[in-house]
Amino acid sequence: AKPISVVLLGAGGVGKSAITIQFVKDKFVEQYDPIVVDGKVQMMTIWDTAGQEEYRALQDGYIRDASGFVIVYSVIDQTSFCDIRKLYERILRIRDCERVPAVLLGNKVDMEVDREVTAAEAKQLADEYHMDFQETSAKNKTGVEQSFHQLVRAIRLA
Ligand code: GDP
Ligand code: MG
Repeated sequence: AKPISVVLLGAGGVGKSAITIQFVKDKFVEQYDPIVVDGKVQMMTIWDTAGQEEYRALQDGYIRDASGFVIVYSVIDQTSFCDIRKLYERILRIRDCERVPAVLLGNKVDMEVDREVTAAEAKQLADEYHMDFQETSAKNKTGVEQSFHQLVRAIRLA
């Protein structure tokens, strides 16, 4: 299969870097190593991003070039969830298309007592945008591997 690149997007502090590190750890020697999804080898590059305004042009470049998107909010931060619509619309605008391979991640699910975003409302948003949806915890690795595999499947089908 040909190499793919995935970009992580979402508000600051939602756990993009923690998710990337959890996924890459024990797996990638180099930044650019194969993983196996559904029995097929997949070369994959992961672009972690920072959300600050000064990185916006850089982000636009990643958005243009990515094969697929990991869009992250935090289940304990309603504001980070509210950002998702704007973010997805921006992706569609930059790509000039109606849908892109993407997975929506509700991270920090280990912080259940502080939850501000329900799985049901996130699933509804994901369905609206034809994205897969997964709740994750970068702390205990819940859902992280599955998320990347879901995205690889979506990219292969695109
Ligand atoms: P980024 O700005 O999106 O890259 O967020 P970071 O990966 O830097 O994470 C921000 C903070 O949230 C750090 O203190 C992380 O340790 C913490 N964090 C990230 N993911 C999780 C998670 O799944 N659960 C908990 N409890 N903390 C997390
Ligand atoms: Mg980060």
